[in-house]
Amino acid sequence: MEPVMVDAHLDLAYGARALGRDLTLPLDRLREVDPHPDTPLVTLESLKEAGVAVAFATLFVDPREGGLEAWQEEVRAQLHLYEDWEARGLVRLLREARELEAHLRRFPQDRVPGLVLLLEGAHALASPEDLLPLRERGLRLLSLTWATGNAYAGGNAEEGPLTEAGKGLLREMEGLGMALDLSHLAEEAAFQALEAFSGPVCATHANARALVPSPRHLSDRLLEALGERGGVLGLVPFNAFLDPGWRRGDPRLPLEAFFRHRAHAEALLGPEGVALGTDWDGGFGLEGVPQGLDRHRDLRALGDAGFLGGNWLRWLRAWF
Ligand SMILES: [Zn+2]
Repeated sequence: MEPVMVDAHLDLAYGARALGRDLTLPLDRLREVDPHPDTPLVTLESLKEAGVAVAFATLFVDPREGGLEAWQEEVRAQLHLYEDWEARGLVRLLREARELEAHLRRFPQDRVPGLVLLLEGAHALASPEDLLPLRERGLRLLSLTWATGNAYAGGNAEEGPLTEAGKGLLREMEGLGMALDLSHLAEEAAFQALEAFSGPVCATHANARALVPSPRHLSDRLLEALGERGGVLGLVPFNAFLDPGWRRGDPRLPLEAFFRHRAHAEALLGPEGVALGTDWDGGFGLEGVPQGLDRHRDLRALGDAGFLGGNWLRWLRAWF
């Protein structure tokens, strides 16, 4: 039996709502009708075809636009979209361990993708108490910020520490059984969060800063700290995250560019600590990914069974 795949970062609801893409279409059909310059990489069917058993699906709002009320409204709308897909039998939401295990038993027969919900950035949380209603609807993962700083922590585009409110939010997450995603955190805040938070940690979509010098990626020190906590890193096959010299419009990179990041990360975290978090269609398309990667099934060329899914499954089952 082919190994199951896990993709730790997909902005599915964002693609459907902000970009207006019908992700229930076959991928080739979506490519025919999609008006955006970035050719889409993902639909629910392309995940099914590839055997993606679990994807961490985001609730994402762009904090550079709108305000608290608009963000909260959008998070609810995205949640509703995932619940609607589930009601139509297109996905299974995995809220609890028994749902995860029942899903993994059924998956080889029906190949319906399972989604674990991830709130990417806590901007829409007016206070830590706002987390409970989301947890009750299935939210299991949270990153404190997205790029910009907010009330909880500094981000990769706006340096800053973990705040008192951030510590309060981490305590709330511990109580609710949620995992912390270090992606997009400022480095200072990330180390403080590791100190303050005793629950499970990971980075759903980030690469090695040693190879791409940007605060968006994780330093060797932080990768080591993540490994010491039993965390997993989801590597992103996006050319600009693989080679600092790549620019939009440049030829696609060879797969070797991705393997360099995998080797670097595995040397620090061990092979069991490195896996996939594609971030596909979260701000780039087919033109922005390495040669040979046309859709999810092609990702099987990137690693072994652990890298493709086993590492994330082991991490999830340890705390879910
Ligand atoms: Zn992101």
